[in-house]
Amino acid sequence: MKRYSAFAIAKEAIRQHTGWTRAWASPEPKKKYDVVIVGAGGHGLATAYYLGKNFGITNVAVIDKGWLGGGNTGRNTTIIRSNYLQDPSAAIYEKARSLYETMSQDLNYNVMFSPRGVIMLAQTQHEIRGYKRTAHANSLQGVQTEWIGPERVKELCPIINLDGPRYPVLGGLWQARGGSARHDAVAWGYARACSDMGMDIIQQCEVTGVMTEGGKVKGVNTSKGDILCDKLGMVVAGHASVLAGMAGFKLPIESVPLQALVSEPIKPCMDVVIMANTVHGYMSQSDKGEMVIGGGTDGHNNYTQRGSFHHIEETVRALVETFPMIARLKMLRQWGGIVDVTGDRSAILSKTPVDGIFVNCGWGTGGFKAIPGSGWAMAELMAKGYSPLTEEFNMFRFKEGKFIDESVAAGVAH
Ligand SMILES: Cc1cc2nc3c(=O)[nH]c(=O)nc-3n(C[C@H](O)[C@H](O)[C@H](O)COP(=O)(O)OP(=O)(O)OC[C@H]3O[C@@H](n4cnc5c(N)ncnc54)[C@H](O)[C@@H]3O)c2cc1C
Repeated sequence: MKRYSAFAIAKEAIRQHTGWTRAWASPEPKKKYDVVIVGAGGHGLATAYYLGKNFGITNVAVIDKGWLGGGNTGRNTTIIRSNYLQDPSAAIYEKARSLYETMSQDLNYNVMFSPRGVIMLAQTQHEIRGYKRTAHANSLQGVQTEWIGPERVKELCPIINLDGPRYPVLGGLWQARGGSARHDAVAWGYARACSDMGMDIIQQCEVTGVMTEGGKVKGVNTSKGDILCDKLGMVVAGHASVLAGMAGFKLPIESVPLQALVSEPIKPCMDVVIMANTVHGYMSQSDKGEMVIGGGTDGHNNYTQRGSFHHIEETVRALVETFPMIARLKMLRQWGGIVDVTGDRSAILSKTPVDGIFVNCGWGTGGFKAIPGSGWAMAELMAKGYSPLTEEFNMFRFKEGKFIDESVAAGVAH
């Protein structure tokens, strides 16, 4: 792999940029791998990366039916935070947040991590109580967050309207080292590093069946032929229950569209991320100047990457009352992704009823922030059969009633 650096750019400039090599290879699938990961989103690629980096397992294929990063990983609003309530969540999200801090250096790829700070607004008494409780829990967990009053919210984000026609801003939960990163770059950075370790990233290759024998995985049927493997990771977000169905088990997942939109670019006006969960909208400003806006999930299951039109209106209404200055902005693009939501709003990282099949899903509306931590933990689970970070996220918790209830921190937030 050619190292990216200021020196490399200068050298290439002199020779008319003729020396750059492809960032990752596009091989045809081999007959057999030690590990096959289905899903070249952030979580699948990060799992492959840490399998190689932490455990030396590199005979790995990452397969995607589309293009890498073309699922939710390339469709989200890139909010990164770790201010969750329950201990298992705080552990995995904080692991992820801390890995984001050095990801560009680790991958030698600029993922534009920007720890600009995230505020989750409290607009009801109930939210004040909830966020103060989370701040206390976070201090016990070693996650740095603080409760701030409305004056500090205004100081951090001068364009906010504290009085709100429906709900006033009463304060917020502030995580100063939360922020955002460039989502495609996260996928591209991991893909490049995986390819460099000799792993095969196979795009335009749909998994159509899962082969098992005697309760153990044998491989997958794909649109490019059968591929055998010793271990299989299903990391396909909104399609998790479809893949599980192919292997003969069920997952407690609902697949619903979630949408986002961006405005025309404007001059810098906001250097924090704001989430307003009561009126329901969230916003940040990208490096290009576009206001990046996210809304809610559709109320019914489906697999279209679009979302219902009324959500756009609801989201824009919420944000116009919170930030009146955006009222005359034109919206440039809107899109949706299929998110995989569990009953307790927490992810599933787990062994499955089929020996050798592991599943990573259920990140719902908020899994971008978890990518490095999830990949780290999933790799450990797949390599060693156990990871302290995944232990409580197993799929069997729903039978046993051991929920990781994050409906306050994650139910509608991102
Ligand atoms: C609009 C929107 C906004 C969001 N905002 C945020 C946010 O601000 N912060 C945050 O933390 N999270 C956010 N999220 C959630 C986040 O994007 C997801 O949790 C995360 O990207 C999931 O990554 P993944 O790798 O699991 O899935 P994906 O990136 O969806 O990757 C799964 C891959 O599996 C492939 N696949 C599916 N079926 C098959 C098959 N049969 N064969 C082969 N390949 C298959 C798909 O093509 C896809 O590329 C948002 C999501 C959306 C949609």
